[in-house]
Amino acid sequence: MSNLDGLQGKVAIVTGGSRGIGRAIVARLAGQGAKVAVVATSEQSAGLGVEAAQAAGGEACAYAADVRDSARAKEVVGQVVEAWGGVNILVNNAGVTRDQLLMRMSDEDIDTVIDTNLKAALSWTRAVAKPMMKARNGSVINISSIVGLVGSPGQSNYAAAKAGLFGVTRSLAAELGARGVRVNAIAPGFIQTDMTKELGEDLVKASLEKIPLNRLGDPDDIARGVAFLASDEAAYVTGTTLVIDGGMSL
Ligand code: NDP
Repeated sequence: MSNLDGLQGKVAIVTGGSRGIGRAIVARLAGQGAKVAVVATSEQSAGLGVEAAQAAGGEACAYAADVRDSARAKEVVGQVVEAWGGVNILVNNAGVTRDQLLMRMSDEDIDTVIDTNLKAALSWTRAVAKPMMKARNGSVINISSIVGLVGSPGQSNYAAAKAGLFGVTRSLAAELGARGVRVNAIAPGFIQTDMTKELGEDLVKASLEKIPLNRLGDPDDIARGVAFLASDEAAYVTGTTLVIDGGMSL
């Protein structure tokens, strides 16, 4: 089996698979042979991920879900298992920012960011844990951020959520390892997506100066890391964080 079909026979769920990093992950996993359930806020947006999977020569299905709704997580996982016979890969990628200085940050800014970026990872992992443990096979990948490692002014809510994911990753790796389920995190740096396109030219320029590899990241830079952690190539890797940031956090 070549690396290009290294995910043949696997079933993946990718949250936030409609745009940006999530869509690149969907395309890469599908291109390497996985069947992919694309989760996004509407069936229409999830359909964009399905189109990307098909363009990569793969198979995918769209699911509308607000990742903050844990009952819906259980429902979607049940439908995926029913349709495709199991689930091997979960990528907790859906995320939002509500940047604000702490003195001006509303309760809603705090709750939305924690619920979407952190709590949802717990409820979606809980939903897949049973079928993964039963199959003695699973790889959960939490998309965190270097902001969770180094902090960032105006992003204390986001940093809390992303740092929290490291604790979730290590705890669940220890909890689920004996049942054949691996749990890892990826910490992306500055990746060009809708989330970062609103940032001004000055900030982009200042960020570039901090990146030894001298370019902003591309969503596929992250997707390649996900494909590795999802695959049997990473069979002995769990509880770790793969930093993909061009050296920005050094
Ligand atoms: P985008 O803003 O481009 O895409 C966000 C994705 O999340 C969309 O698919 C969106 O779906 C989905 N989403 C948001 N809220 C919900 C929700 N409540 N329920 C279901 N789906 C939801 O983000 P990026 O691709 O830039 O980021 C992806 C992940 O990577 C995030 O976790 C982010 O924090 C992280 N990250 C990004 C970095 C960057 O530089 N871009 C750096 C470090 C980490 P829809 O299309 O339906 O709205």
